[in-house]
Amino acid sequence: MPLVTLTELLELNKNENWAIGAVDVMNQDMVRGVIAGAEKANAPVILMLAEVHEALVSIEELGAIMVDCARRATVPVCVHFDHGETYSSIIRAMKAGFTSVMYDGSHLPLEENIRTTKEIVQVAQALGVSVEAELGQLTRPEGCDDEDLEENPDLYTDPEEAIRFYHETGIDALAVAFGTAHGVYAKQPVLDFDRLQEIRNKTGAPLVMHGGSGLEPADFHAAIDRGVKKINYYSNMVYSVAQTIQCKLNEAEGKTYYHDISVWAIEAIRDDIAETLTRFRSNGKA
Ligand SMILES: [Zn+2]
Repeated sequence: MPLVTLTELLELNKNENWAIGAVDVMNQDMVRGVIAGAEKANAPVILMLAEVHEALVSIEELGAIMVDCARRATVPVCVHFDHGETYSSIIRAMKAGFTSVMYDGSHLPLEENIRTTKEIVQVAQALGVSVEAELGQLTRPEGCDDEDLEENPDLYTDPEEAIRFYHETGIDALAVAFGTAHGVYAKQPVLDFDRLQEIRNKTGAPLVMHGGSGLEPADFHAAIDRGVKKINYYSNMVYSVAQTIQCKLNEAEGKTYYHDISVWAIEAIRDDIAETLTRFRSNGKA
C-alpha cells in the first residue's frame, strides 16, 4: 500500500506507542532521500510540502513528484500539505493528489478556527482526503527564525477547548502546542507533558507534535507515550545535510560537479531519516 491517507497510517499505530515521522521536502532529492530513509528503516512515512515553501516550489510541481514517488515506494507513504493557511492552496493540494492536508487556523479565535476548519473537512471528506488542524500556538510559528522567543503557556492548547475543537470539526488528527517550537532550538524547551496527557485523555484524538527537531530522545518517547502519533521533522535534517555537503566539498579532491552534491544530499537525508524514524520507534512498522 504505497500511497495512503493519514487516516490509513494512523490505523497502524492506533493502539501502539510509536509515531509516524512527517518530513517537509522542497525538491526531488529530498523526496527521494526521505523515501529511501523510510525504506531503509522499513517504516511508514509522511512526505510534506509546507505552504510557506511555495516560494521555492509550487504545489503542482513538487506534488506530482511526491505522489509518483510515493506510489512506487515499498513502504506506505502519505503525501501531506503542511500548514495550509488559505482555502485556495488547500484545494489546490487536494487537486494535485495530496492524500492529507493540514489546515492551520491556530491564529484565529476558537469559533472562527472551528468554522473554517469544518469547511475544509467537508470538502476533504468528499474527496477521501485526511485533515489535520491545529489548536493553540507553538513557541515559534512555521517559517519564523527568531531564536530568542520564550515559551508562553498562555498560548498552549487548552484541553477543554480541544474537546470541542476535535469533536465539532471532525478532523482526523490534532496538532497541539505544549512548549515545542519550529526551527532549531536555541536552548532545550520545557515541555508541558501533563497538559499533553490531559488533552489525550479528554479527546482520544491522535495528536501531532510540531517542532520535532533537536529534542532529547526521552522527550520524544514521553510525547509518544502520551498519544503523539505524528511528529513533524525538518530543521535538524536540513541543517545536518548542509553540514555534510560542506565537509564533502572541503575534502573533495579534484573537480566537484552539481550531480555529486545531489547524490551526497540524498544519501545524507536517507541516513538521517532512517535514524529519526527509529527514534520515533516506527522502524519495522511498514
Ligand atoms: Zn509545524
